[in-house]
Amino acid sequence: MSSGTKYVYFFGGGKSDGDASMRNLLGGKGANLAEMSNIGLPVPAGFTITTELCTYFYDNDRTYPPELKQQVEDAMKQVEQTMGAEFGSQENPLLLSCRSGARESMPGMMDTVLNIGLNDTTVEVLSKKSGNPAFAWDSYRRFIQMYGDVVMEVRPEAKEEDGYELILDEAREKAGVEYDSQLSVDQLKEVVTKFKKLIRDKAGKDFPTDPMEQVWGAVGAVFQSWMNDRAIVYRRQYGIPHSWGTAVNVQAMVFGNLGDDCATGVGLTRDCSMGAPGFNGDYLINAQGEDVVAGIRTPKRIEKTLGEDMPEAYKQLCNIGETLEQHYKDVQDIEFTVQQGKVWMLQTRNAKRTGFAAVRIAVDLVNEGLIDKKTALTKKRIPADDLNQLLQPIFDPAAKNKAIEDGTYLATGINAGPGAATGIICFHAEDAEAIQAKDPNVQLILVRRETSPEDLRGMRIAKGILTAFGGASSHAALVSRQMGKTCIVGCSELEIDYHEGTLSVGDKVLKTGDWISIDGFTGEVFAGKVETKPSEIIEVLIHKTRKPEDAETFQRYSQLMEWVDEIRTMKVRANAEPDDAAKAVAFGAEGVGLCRTEHMFFSHLDEIREMILAEEVETRQKAINKLLPFQRQDFEILFKEMNGRPVTIRLLDPPLHEFLSEHHLHEQPDLAHKLADMVGAGKEFIYRRVEELKESNPMLGHRGCRLGIVYPEITAMQARAIMEAACHVQKAGIEVHPEIMIPLVGFKAELDNQTKVVREVAAEVLKEQGIEVAYTVGTMIEIPRAALRADEIAETAEFFSFGTNDLTQTTLGMSRDDYGGFIGFYQENDIIPNDPFQTVDQDGVGDLMKIGVERGRSTRSDLKIGICGEHGGDPASVIFCHKLGLNYVSCSPFRIPIARLAAAQAVLDS
Ligand code: ADP
Ligand code: MG
Ligand code: MG
Repeated sequence: MSSGTKYVYFFGGGKSDGDASMRNLLGGKGANLAEMSNIGLPVPAGFTITTELCTYFYDNDRTYPPELKQQVEDAMKQVEQTMGAEFGSQENPLLLSCRSGARESMPGMMDTVLNIGLNDTTVEVLSKKSGNPAFAWDSYRRFIQMYGDVVMEVRPEAKEEDGYELILDEAREKAGVEYDSQLSVDQLKEVVTKFKKLIRDKAGKDFPTDPMEQVWGAVGAVFQSWMNDRAIVYRRQYGIPHSWGTAVNVQAMVFGNLGDDCATGVGLTRDCSMGAPGFNGDYLINAQGEDVVAGIRTPKRIEKTLGEDMPEAYKQLCNIGETLEQHYKDVQDIEFTVQQGKVWMLQTRNAKRTGFAAVRIAVDLVNEGLIDKKTALTKKRIPADDLNQLLQPIFDPAAKNKAIEDGTYLATGINAGPGAATGIICFHAEDAEAIQAKDPNVQLILVRRETSPEDLRGMRIAKGILTAFGGASSHAALVSRQMGKTCIVGCSELEIDYHEGTLSVGDKVLKTGDWISIDGFTGEVFAGKVETKPSEIIEVLIHKTRKPEDAETFQRYSQLMEWVDEIRTMKVRANAEPDDAAKAVAFGAEGVGLCRTEHMFFSHLDEIREMILAEEVETRQKAINKLLPFQRQDFEILFKEMNGRPVTIRLLDPPLHEFLSEHHLHEQPDLAHKLADMVGAGKEFIYRRVEELKESNPMLGHRGCRLGIVYPEITAMQARAIMEAACHVQKAGIEVHPEIMIPLVGFKAELDNQTKVVREVAAEVLKEQGIEVAYTVGTMIEIPRAALRADEIAETAEFFSFGTNDLTQTTLGMSRDDYGGFIGFYQENDIIPNDPFQTVDQDGVGDLMKIGVERGRSTRSDLKIGICGEHGGDPASVIFCHKLGLNYVSCSPFRIPIARLAAAQAVLDS
């Protein structure tokens, strides 16, 4: 890199080198500090060292470029001038904070050091100058604690007690006070002495006294923290590239711990749990930054008491909130400090929110004229997956009342993440991981005094999170909001004993592994399991037990969906059998993209087994004829429910032994006998046929169109059932659009063979019924060969549907039934970024799809193409499908709203 590179950007005093548009270089925090200063908000002066430097640092064996020193010194002078104080000075010392700040905010993942510049000399100066020795010594002990932890790495191992906290506990106990802020100067001095000794003992060196050495130590530690374990886990979870790097912000300190006219706080310009308007947040009087975020003391609520406690500061804060929303056009999450009545801004960013809040805020901001519909629907504002939260169950009020009557109610905390969660109690993230490794479907609730970034892995596994301390802006609240988890924080009545593994409220005691239920809407906690019931939207749409006009959440949802449907161009269909067709339509399905006929067979096992056992065409035909009326009836129901929408029906796909195998014979000891009677043969015959059907690699075995080719009677029966049903329904005055789909085709000849059978039968049926029904015959593209030979296949196929489940299995050579054994490891080690069975592997599978689309349409330009794998409901995959030019995606009914939103976002993206 050239020696002219600018690595250091000043901000403060109403002007800055940077602005909000420079977040890639300055990180989110640095860019927004610069921006706030530019629009005239009160920001303590400081400078940002760029993410480019972080890249340099890691590319050059963790060293800095030579020009950095001078640039830092120059910026430091500017800060000193703006703030009217001098770093390291014996008369008027300036103190600094050193803060991380990546491009995307990673709350609490990296480190911050406050009060840099204090030592045994400057602490005395500060003490005299402020006339408040308790403040000076409190700041000093905080500095040593943070610096010792972050820079000198004197910190507790997992489950170990925190050495600093032990010293503080002891001091408080000895002094007979509840909070650190009540310790006397002498008591604080004693704490400082003990902290220094702890550090000397553990680090093997003394705490540094030179202010400049302190700054460089802190800067280095922040750059190092980009690669700490929890930051890496976080980036993996949220798909943030490790290569981005963090910036470092060095900033003049302002003090919330100077007395009772000082405070520190965090706020939101609107509620981010349910989305209601109004400034809100947490603050603590006479305290410093981390106190609120860490959730050590339960803070006071801004909207409740700040107006009384500090009327002037409250007014400033509300004004700042409004300025910020108008400027950023989104809800802001801010950090501030009140120093002697004056508000100082330390951070602003677009607030993380639950799916509920995301929908409400987006709709409200459009209605308030701050943003337009298109902006409201962007991925950043409403991640499509978050809509899922609105469909999640809530506790059944009757069951909750019963729980209250039964005396299982425990306590109420702060409702920080909406939803209803029931699970077994788990106190430690490591334990949660161990339990999940044994039982992947385990339902557990992570119960903590407070959470810290180390708990992230456990939070990810938990169905819900419950903490005893911390407010609505604590780490637990923030992270669970982002993960869409049910969460209750600050439930102060809970006594948690990590050693005993117990949680108690009065004389009620629960242990690790006991069931507990938490209501994230109300903050209530119950011992035991509480039954859940469907969300408001499900009640309106599916169960029809609630009227839309009585359902506010539903109304917003439906408003949003109207906008979505105006914008998107790709259709959304459902993977549905007759049973869930009505549900699919209620969620907005515009057709069925995949009806799996074998699902219907499972309720007619006798007949299908008779068919399977048959060795002769005639006996097989006889058994198959018995299946015809059942299939026809099912299709009639489906066509009627779909009421004129297109319906793609896939012919029989799974290997026959799914209906009859050794496993079945083993499970049902009398089955062989019964079947033998049914077909008039001996039991040995049954065992022999079952043995013949067995395959060592069923996924690649006799299935899909291979069945229909060997047993054309099956294809013929299914085609007949479909066409007869279509004729009947059309005769009843309901439009039908059957699309008959041949699975697992690799060779054009396979498709030709099956299409011929289908068309012959269809012609026969139409003649018998004496009417015309328009139908099409197409194929799944789920074998790489089919994608490659799509031009040829499209000569016969009237439509394509990408079966991305099988296409992923066959392209990657990974079986979906077996990949669980290693995929977690693959992701941990960044071998592949996503689970390929959830999100289309765009480079590989996606490339085959692209080839399939191009070659298919080269033969048949109007070829209708869709996708019907699980991926059809995955937002990233939906966007990819839009880019490929697919006509529709098809997914399970519950994913339809998500797919609709993602389809709109695909348009907005491009
Ligand atoms: P995080 O990214 O974990 O939120 P920050 O860098 O925002 O870390 O620092 C955490 C808290 O430390 C801030 O919310 C603020 O209260 C306090 N803080 C940071 N810098 C300063 C400062 N210059 N003056 C006063 N408090 C500060
Ligand atoms: Mg912060
Ligand atoms: Mg398939």
